[in-house]
Amino acid sequence: MSALARLRRRGHDALAIDLTDTTVTLEGVTRRFGAKTAIDDVTLRIPEGSTTCLIGPSGSGKSTLLRMINLLERPDEGRVLIGREEVSAPGYPIEALRSRVGMVFQQYSLFPHMTVLDNVTFSLREVHHVGRDEAVERARRELDRVGASGLEDRLPDQISGGERQRVAIARSLVISPKIMLFDEVTSALDPELVKGVLSLLAEFTDSGITILVVTHEMRFARESASDIAFMDRGRIVEQGPPDQVFDDPRSDRLKNFVAAIG
Ligand code: ADP
Ligand code: MG
Repeated sequence: MSALARLRRRGHDALAIDLTDTTVTLEGVTRRFGAKTAIDDVTLRIPEGSTTCLIGPSGSGKSTLLRMINLLERPDEGRVLIGREEVSAPGYPIEALRSRVGMVFQQYSLFPHMTVLDNVTFSLREVHHVGRDEAVERARRELDRVGASGLEDRLPDQISGGERQRVAIARSLVISPKIMLFDEVTSALDPELVKGVLSLLAEFTDSGITILVVTHEMRFARESASDIAFMDRGRIVEQGPPDQVFDDPRSDRLKNFVAAIG
């Protein structure tokens, strides 16, 4: 039986994991792929309710780190904690955790064979056991909030890239997430659509949700993040508030990165 099926069988109780404190902590986390060390002894604290932007060159380990938080990747060494709970511990109900963590990727976040409405109601109905009418009502509310109402009956390939990302964001919001993970959500978009999606993300920054955003949009990072973490070759090289990281970078690696991308 799959973990999700087990979770369904246990019903709502399994979803009652303790997420009263959504501070995310990585302690000495290492993740290897064969000979490649993608994450190299990373210790990082993402304060509850903060918006942390993770920046760094391609291949530096940003996606792998983000995926650690909902255990799509498991650490080979070290621990991942949410509040004081070690979510990387064997036997932790990962599906329950994922049901409270919203995640949006660069692309292909939506189920291609499902309408927009079914995409947004899916986890509410299948994981959270919300009835159809309520699920539809909540889905419509979130679609409206992200500026995607009117698209309910379309399939993902019948809407634009920007609309797809808005729908994907609505789908992650509809579960009332405690933590949201965004991985380069604007990287595949046409330039004229980027701004709209970024200003949508910026709306969530003071909502109490703990947010981790992997992005190459330095202006967004500077204006919307409470913290910046700069990653290079699997390590967090610098971390701090945007002013410090962007205006007073300490390492040559960060200086070069900011110069190259800014
Ligand atoms: P970023 O998101 O910063 O571009 P990633 O986290 O995707 O970096 O990748 C970090 C490193 O780990 C890269 O060298 C990448 O090729 C490698 N990597 C990531 N996922 C896998 C995987 N599933 N199998 C093998 N190597 C991987
Ligand atoms: Mg990546």
